[in-house]
Amino acid sequence: MSRKAITIVGAGLVGSLLATLLAQRGFAVTVHERRPDPRKAGFVGGRSINLALAERGWHGLRVAGLTEAMRPIAVMMRGRMVHDVHGNTNLQRYGRDDSEVIWSVNRGQLNMTLLSAAEAAGAKIHFDQRLTTVDWDNSRAVFSDEAGLSHTSTDWTTLIGADGAGSALRQAMAARTDLGERFEPLGHAYKELEIPPLADLPAATLPEALRQARARGDRFAIEPNALHIWPRGGYMCIALPNAEGSFTVTLFLPTAGNPGFDQLTSRDAVRAFFEREFADAVPLMPGYLDDFASNPTGMLGTLYLDRWHLDGRAVLLGDAAHAIVPFHGQGMNCGFEDAVELADLISADFSDPAAVFAQFQARRKPNADAIAAMALDNYIEMRDRVDDADYLLMRALERA
Ligand code: FAD
Repeated sequence: MSRKAITIVGAGLVGSLLATLLAQRGFAVTVHERRPDPRKAGFVGGRSINLALAERGWHGLRVAGLTEAMRPIAVMMRGRMVHDVHGNTNLQRYGRDDSEVIWSVNRGQLNMTLLSAAEAAGAKIHFDQRLTTVDWDNSRAVFSDEAGLSHTSTDWTTLIGADGAGSALRQAMAARTDLGERFEPLGHAYKELEIPPLADLPAATLPEALRQARARGDRFAIEPNALHIWPRGGYMCIALPNAEGSFTVTLFLPTAGNPGFDQLTSRDAVRAFFEREFADAVPLMPGYLDDFASNPTGMLGTLYLDRWHLDGRAVLLGDAAHAIVPFHGQGMNCGFEDAVELADLISADFSDPAAVFAQFQARRKPNADAIAAMALDNYIEMRDRVDDADYLLMRALERA
């Protein structure tokens, strides 16, 4: 029996999970990915960027049989550790006990694990193949490589787009039909910084307790099993642990204003801002001024589409269909749910792709819309309200 062919554009987190699930179910899966193979070239960016993996995401990994591969690199986060401006901390648990937690995983390692799983299941991944145009009338998709050489693919009947927020497939679909696309910028951006492992921090500038912890051989400079938040009203920093002892710190701040990214244009301005707002974190981030200068400033916003598919010829999932702001830590988790749902529908009956894609959209879009709204709400919750309980308690104690 000949295997049904599936063509996926994008081998990021969602595309590579979908490729794994479909290849495991006997489909002949081909994936075209813009970047070089990260297992050979190193993950683009090179920095240790991590993501919060929740039960929704674990479910997708479980279905693909990848839980065991991911456990060793996942760090449990029991709750949010709130740091106030005076350096006091307060752990707010997510649930009753350790059955209700989220996990921090390294994006690069997760992606590479998924790529290997997809290939082990039989998927063929073509790296350095960027989708540039689609000729829908003649079923021709053009991919170009780094050297600028073009390759035309005609052996597909449907294209599945997991090519992220800037999806080229979405653009090609929109040239053929109105997808009802709108993008709402948040007006806030982010910058990634790092708290290195405790052993790499210069002892001279460390507080005494950390010097002792370092001498004992502790790996983490702050509590490892928490998602750290420094809420400051209209902006905040967060930090997620990495298994090797470092933390990825992310500053979320308005693009313009006081304070805003437009004002942090010199080392002195950045230093003054951090020393005023995040004083307890500064001794833990010896490279933050260099990181601030060299790491890109990422823009944030929400992408809404009324239609996720072009009849039976193409469908979008993951960020390509519904990029959201990251404050609920659910973009990838939601994309993994898309992958499981789409793989289930395709493997149940793929004789009418248009019907399958319409059903996929009907099932997933209400969930994606809900998580997009929750993610926007959670920014206000995280940067403003998580501190309230602390603040009120402190005031009450002061009055007592
Ligand atoms: P992507 O990860 O963007 O992958 C798209 C892939 O397609 C890439 O490999 C890209 O190279 C490839 N591609 C792009 N264009 C083309 C083309 N033309 N041709 C071929 N290939 C192409 N989510 C969480 O669940 N938890 C978190 O804690 C979390 N934190 C986040 C923090 C930040 C700062 C940000 C910005 C996002 C965060 N997210 C988080 C969201 C998460 O990163 C995304 O939802 C997730 O990466 C989406 O996966 P994807 O595969 O759809 O897209």
